[in-house]
Amino acid sequence: MEKWDVVVVGGGPGGSYAAKTAAEKGLKTVFFERGRKPGEKNSSGCGLGQRWWKDFPVEMEAVTHMPSYRKCEMVVINLVDEHDRLRYRSGTTGSDLCAARFPQGRGMIGASVYRKDLDPYLAGLATGAGAELRNSTLVTEAVIEGGKVTGVKTEKGEKIAAEVVIAADGAMSTMARTSGMRNRWEGGCTLAPQLDFSCDEQKLDDVIGNAEWVWFGPFYGAYQVNFRDGFHLGAGTWVDEYWDTNPKDIVRKVFNFPAFQAMCRAVDAKPREFQAHLLPWLKKPPKTYTGGMMLVGDAAGFPCPLEGEGIWHAMMSGRIAGETAAWAISKGDASETALREYERRWKASDLGKEHEFGQEFVDLWHNSIFDPESMVKQIQIMLEFSMLHPFSVVFDWGDAHIDCFNQHLGHMLDLVPEFGDFGKKYIAPLGRGIWPENVKRILSMVKPRIPVLNRLSDERFFKVVARLSRGLAPYLDPGAKQQAPLPRGSL
Ligand SMILES: Cc1cc2nc3c(=O)[nH]c(=O)nc-3n(C[C@H](O)[C@H](O)[C@H](O)COP(=O)(O)OP(=O)(O)OC[C@H]3O[C@@H](n4cnc5c(N)ncnc54)[C@H](O)[C@@H]3O)c2cc1C
Repeated sequence: MEKWDVVVVGGGPGGSYAAKTAAEKGLKTVFFERGRKPGEKNSSGCGLGQRWWKDFPVEMEAVTHMPSYRKCEMVVINLVDEHDRLRYRSGTTGSDLCAARFPQGRGMIGASVYRKDLDPYLAGLATGAGAELRNSTLVTEAVIEGGKVTGVKTEKGEKIAAEVVIAADGAMSTMARTSGMRNRWEGGCTLAPQLDFSCDEQKLDDVIGNAEWVWFGPFYGAYQVNFRDGFHLGAGTWVDEYWDTNPKDIVRKVFNFPAFQAMCRAVDAKPREFQAHLLPWLKKPPKTYTGGMMLVGDAAGFPCPLEGEGIWHAMMSGRIAGETAAWAISKGDASETALREYERRWKASDLGKEHEFGQEFVDLWHNSIFDPESMVKQIQIMLEFSMLHPFSVVFDWGDAHIDCFNQHLGHMLDLVPEFGDFGKKYIAPLGRGIWPENVKRILSMVKPRIPVLNRLSDERFFKVVARLSRGLAPYLDPGAKQQAPLPRGSL
């Protein structure tokens, strides 16, 4: 029987990065891909965030030379009301802080590429490092001996042994199921259909430029990722809770918006392909290791709980799993107890940080775009807020400017109580993520405005505030750790 140090199942971003890392550590590594080549079985394309410049700078540089590459410097938000009318369009660009975050002002520069470009490139890094890639090979089950995963079986009937198996076989993970780690996702898998379009490159440059678009309304949100000469429109719904809502209908709804149709006409868009893929979107990833095996990427439930980005997460977890495999093999121990180290490592990394707020992020979505009734009100409130923008007030010539301002302010204040309950329940819990140093800076700015307290030293002032506000106390207690968690909803 064939025997390898590391067998990786899946040639997506997670599998390729795990195979690359293991091979670079000198381990005899093979990875299996069911498609004829990596990228063949994935939904069309992806947006890649700015943090790639920090964590995967070589790969991100290579992405900028891929045929389907489009730079992304802003996100354009389209708000559509319940009558399908576009009510608000605005772009989020980076601030000076974003620009300064990485060299060459790259802190606000992301990328979009098709998976047919990205996945083969990443697999090439793994084979370049010495890993062997076997395409057109479906792994059908985990081999279990002595209560531990000791290898895999393929549909060709081969049985392949490994010191460590890394399962990077995506959302439907055969390895997680056949090893007994789980049968189905508990609360949190989404189905994401996508409509892919070809279009005129020059017109896309003129109409959209270097931007991604999102469409929010009192239905479910949709995203539009733009490539060199094409784009796709997609939306995700949690399959267990919204089974009656066919996600295809959401894509069709956005497709039929007059504003979307106008954009399609302007760039000569032609529908090219309809696809649908599962995407885990969880409050918390379940257990990610067992004896002899680690799960990475979608197989582990790692996509970002705020916006479903998952390629960075797959590569980060692939890297950590490859390193942990090397560590376990060097100790001669790939037992379940030893591989707990994998979970310790990813939790201590930026990947773990992403999931600390999983509950809050998912709750926020469930109660905003996934709740059409609440979303009708929220859109109205957001529109009122936008009218308080200096330019909106200047160009509202319906009355004297100062009267217009007060009319809008009054109208917004009428609506605030309706938003109050949502804000208290789903925005305030995120307050526990505010850094204590920032809370102190804000309080220090307020202090001079309260003469009776301004006489106190900063230290004494913080103590008084901590005594007056139980919610702020964990931030202001000198003994408390940085980012001490606040009780939910206490700010
Ligand atoms: C519609 C949609 C849009 C998305 N958009 C973005 C985005 O814009 N940006 C972003 O960062 N993320 C995005 N994501 C998430 C992202 O695609 C995933 O998080 C990411 O692909 C996970 O990588 P992975 O390697 O874990 O799994 P996958 O990319 O799913 O790769 C798994 C690989 O394993 C192979 N495989 C599966 N089973 C077997 C088997 N039994 N034997 C052999 N091979 C097998 C598959 O063919 C596949 O190549 C999107 C997801 C969806 C569904």
